[in-house]
Amino acid sequence: MSEERGILTPSGFAKGLSLLSWGLIIATLGYPANDLGIFSNLWIDLHYALQWRPNWGGWMPLPAPALASFALATLILTVKLIRKHRPMDAGYLGGLIALFGAALRHGEPSATLVFISLSSLLLVLGIFQESHRMAFLDELTGIPGRRALLADMKKLGRRYSLAMVDIDFFKKFNDTHGHDVGDQVLRMVSSRLNQTGGGSRAYRYGGEEFTLLFPGKSIDEAIDVLEDVRERIQDTIFVVRGSNRPNKKPGRSKKNQTRKRPEGKRTKVTVSIGLSQRTDKQEDPSDVMKKADRALYKAKDKGRNCVISK
Ligand code: GH3
Ligand code: MG
Ligand code: MG
Repeated sequence: MSEERGILTPSGFAKGLSLLSWGLIIATLGYPANDLGIFSNLWIDLHYALQWRPNWGGWMPLPAPALASFALATLILTVKLIRKHRPMDAGYLGGLIALFGAALRHGEPSATLVFISLSSLLLVLGIFQESHRMAFLDELTGIPGRRALLADMKKLGRRYSLAMVDIDFFKKFNDTHGHDVGDQVLRMVSSRLNQTGGGSRAYRYGGEEFTLLFPGKSIDEAIDVLEDVRERIQDTIFVVRGSNRPNKKPGRSKKNQTRKRPEGKRTKVTVSIGLSQRTDKQEDPSDVMKKADRALYKAKDKGRNCVISK
């Protein structure tokens, strides 16, 4: 659920260090001062530091360091949530806020119980949502993947059409520009397909192949939006930067302002599309998909960058 980065990375090291320091603080506070020898004064100082609270009245039972750590954690999680939109971070944030509620009402067992239960519930909900996201969304492109497609194909009614989309000469594109640039093209194509409209839903079928479902739509109703999206992909200029491209965006320093930005090479990609629809003779969604696939091969045969319906 949370990204595994390993203990040897800076992030893993920071996490390990913070766990170690919290462990040490808790262990130290648990000891009576006179057992700690030369560390007794340190123990007393630490104890007072952690318990320090300004005179902010009875409404706030928390000492200042605890409040500051709550505020910092809330800030970090909010920023992470805004930047990454991950359900797990929403779960952590909700859980943390509910825990804060529990801390504010400590001494009232029933209120504490409600807040702690709410906190655990929000965490569990976050985990469920995150695992759902991981199972159904394609990691590279962020659009639904094949698992989601197969699930949605079972829910289609008696009228729908289905398009198979395949990037043209993608192997050559990868060989020329590299796999990473290929990945960027996959993201661009997915985002265009995701905006197809006409009530469609886009999926990454696998590799450089995508599927579009048009629930309730016939071939005639789907073909125009497919021609539109094909043209939009064909017209998207993709700038491939040279290998001397800086990894970080240049800042606004004088040195960077005078340095000439490396010119990118402009390139384009196209897609071929095969379209089919459900008929009474062709009831099974997998048959509709096979027919769309055959139409796609025809589109490739016809010279690519076109839509063929069957
Ligand atoms: P055609 O026009 O007939 O479709 O030719 P093509 O080269 O697109 O088809 P082919 O099936 O020969 O090659 C597909 C290529 O897609 C091969 C593989 O390297 C690339 N590919 C598949 N998945 C990914 C991916 O996730 N990232 C990148 N960068 N490339 C991928
Ligand atoms: Mg292919
Ligand atoms: Mg291809």
